[in-house]
Amino acid sequence: MDTARVGVMGWPVGHTRSPAMHNAAFRALGLEGWRYLALPVPPELFAETARALPGSGYRGVNVTIPHKEAALAVAHTATPAATAIGAANTLTFEDDGAIEAENTDAGGFLDALGTSSRGLRALVLGAGGAARAVVWALREEGAEVLVWNRSPERAAALAVELGVAQAPRPVPCDLLVNATAVGLEPTTTVDEALAALGLGGAAAPGIAVDLVYGGAPTAFERWARVAGSKVVPGTEILVAQGARSVERWTGRPAPVADMRRALDPGG
Ligand code: NAP
Repeated sequence: MDTARVGVMGWPVGHTRSPAMHNAAFRALGLEGWRYLALPVPPELFAETARALPGSGYRGVNVTIPHKEAALAVAHTATPAATAIGAANTLTFEDDGAIEAENTDAGGFLDALGTSSRGLRALVLGAGGAARAVVWALREEGAEVLVWNRSPERAAALAVELGVAQAPRPVPCDLLVNATAVGLEPTTTVDEALAALGLGGAAAPGIAVDLVYGGAPTAFERWARVAGSKVVPGTEILVAQGARSVERWTGRPAPVADMRRALDPGG
């Protein structure tokens, strides 16, 4: 395909760094006619817009808050990951107009982790959409998964639905994942983040993964680095889930180093 459009549908979507990352990927692949655009779409217009995009030269879209469940609903087919998680972050438009839904947050998380989690004790903080994808991915890989959330009833529901355990409070673990929004506000201090996550006085895990990302290391990331954990920052997960979308749309291996460089504020 010489020319194609892709993009990210969200509401709001102005803050997204995905266009810079994906357009760098297309340049590196020599796909000069491909463009990735930010598409601000309110919830009430999501389904009709998604159905109209294939006719406007779109090959697919990423989908972010608040559309991930609606994206699964609008699709004609869905991968096992998207179906089990109940949400999709990538739609692909086939030549016959069919819409396929995928959840690359799950596989991207495992790619960024870069090591098998089989047999590890993993504690996932959060019970929103990102936590669902991470819990499902870790469970599929054979980790022992526990989930904790500020609102315990949401953690309980997620644990029952995905067949993992609920942690009444953060417990010692090998792998600790921050899948909450804590740290999204760049002025968050380490003490504030630890208090919000119930981690005050907690021992550092072997591996700490933060899904949150911004222009600078997050409070959770700073804590884990000082404590001596191996740290996987949110930008690595953004790159890894984006790489899976690029591969799905173009059929080519994603230029991960170029995508990473495009996110580096000093790069
Ligand atoms: P979501 O569905 O809105 O869930 C938000 C979660 O954060 C809930 O568990 C919520 O707890 C918790 N939370 C919010 N504020 C909190 C606070 N002050 N203290 C403690 N817990 C708090 O959002 P999401 O889609 O799961 O996304 C979560 C984070 O992951 C976001 O920052 C998002 O940007 C990031 N993310 C990153 C990537 C990536 O590629 N790196 C991919 C997906 C998501 P309650 O249930 O108690 O409200």
